[in-house]
Amino acid sequence: MTDSTTDTAPVCSAKGCREAAVWVLAWNNPKLHTPERRKTWLACEEHREYLSNFLGIRGFLKDVVTLEEWEGRRDGSAADR
Ligand SMILES: [Zn+2]
Repeated sequence: MTDSTTDTAPVCSAKGCREAAVWVLAWNNPKLHTPERRKTWLACEEHREYLSNFLGIRGFLKDVVTLEEWEGRRDGSAADR
């Protein structure tokens, strides 16, 4: 077992996966959320496609960006408009 003691690192949102998250999937369920609201899932390299597919077929997926880019975005513009 390789235990890299990164308990502060964000982890993939896929069920049972403990990989470090690399991607942020921003999504919105129009039945539950106002249009500007963004829920986020985190994904490792392996689950990015699976999770974005899951959201995509429901029409929820808004954006897929790297975790790095997502965190960079947040301290700039809070919303598009
Ligand atoms: Zn994963």
